[in-house]
Amino acid sequence: MRALVFEEFGGPLTVREVADPAPAPDGVVVEVGASGVCRSDWHAWSGHDEDVVLPHVPGHELAGVVAAVGERVRGWSVGDRVTAPFVCACGSCPPCREGAGQVCLRQTQPGFTHWGSFAQLVALDAADVNLVALPDDLPVATAAALGCRYATAFRAVTGVGRAAPGEWVVVVGCGGVGLSAVQVAVAVGARVVAVDPSPGARELAASMGAEHVLDSANGVVDLTGGGAHVALDCLGSPATCEASIRSLRPRGRHVQVGLLPPAQGRPVIPMELVVARELAVLGSHGMAATDYPAMLSMIAAGRLRPQDLVTREIGLADAGAALVDVGRTPGVTVITSF
Ligand SMILES: [Zn+2]
Ligand SMILES: [Zn+2]
Repeated sequence: MRALVFEEFGGPLTVREVADPAPAPDGVVVEVGASGVCRSDWHAWSGHDEDVVLPHVPGHELAGVVAAVGERVRGWSVGDRVTAPFVCACGSCPPCREGAGQVCLRQTQPGFTHWGSFAQLVALDAADVNLVALPDDLPVATAAALGCRYATAFRAVTGVGRAAPGEWVVVVGCGGVGLSAVQVAVAVGARVVAVDPSPGARELAASMGAEHVLDSANGVVDLTGGGAHVALDCLGSPATCEASIRSLRPRGRHVQVGLLPPAQGRPVIPMELVVARELAVLGSHGMAATDYPAMLSMIAAGRLRPQDLVTREIGLADAGAALVDVGRTPGVTVITSF
């Protein structure tokens, strides 16, 4: 198969022929139809993830068609249209038994723990636990982002942040996951303030329904009459994490969505505010396959429009440049030809 390979962290990204993957006994191989280019892929390439072993193929936001099935898989067949969460859960450890596969103790992640979906084929483990059937009318380019950024935003806003109608939600950082969070928060009836230094990102956030768009989080407390109920750091940096926490009203909920690899510096958490305002500081890490139906039904009803986030479709040959430049193009870039 063709795949985008890097041999050293931060080094050249080249498309070349590599061996086809084989399915694990409980896994499948998917012929990739679309793969989103996400900041987490950039972290993997940059050497911020200790799971990555060189040489490596990135890519974890995928949708496609099952091409091969392991002997122990019961629920899936060659030809099924699928996506999967970027955290592939084992299905049997304590968090998995509690329905929290997104924090599985024995998780695998395509593009991190093994080769990912910037390739014609990708192997996915524990297929009966992790695969999600795509509705016939959901295009693969739209579905790709569901595996990471869109599902992550959906769960961060609804499940972890528990944003309620009429509440103020501030989204700090409006890349792919931030724009997804804006859209989901608007859909659940929250009032949204979107923060991003990029004019293009702010324009997209406004088009997703953000009531206010700001270039920094400084004005949020005044704008919201005392602070947001829910604040999400959707970029993942020490500065945006702290800005998110500082924008909350008493008893507000901070949700950390963007990754914060220690290599980029650890954030300073204003714990005096956490105590004095009784703030909740929460983490959100993707979404288990079992939680997809609620999101898919809102997409089917037209209440969520992930297709509006896809601003650019590219070929695998251009994926290396897109990965190096991640964050510089507003919206979501998806590889749709391999
Ligand atoms: Zn597990
Ligand atoms: Zn991602």
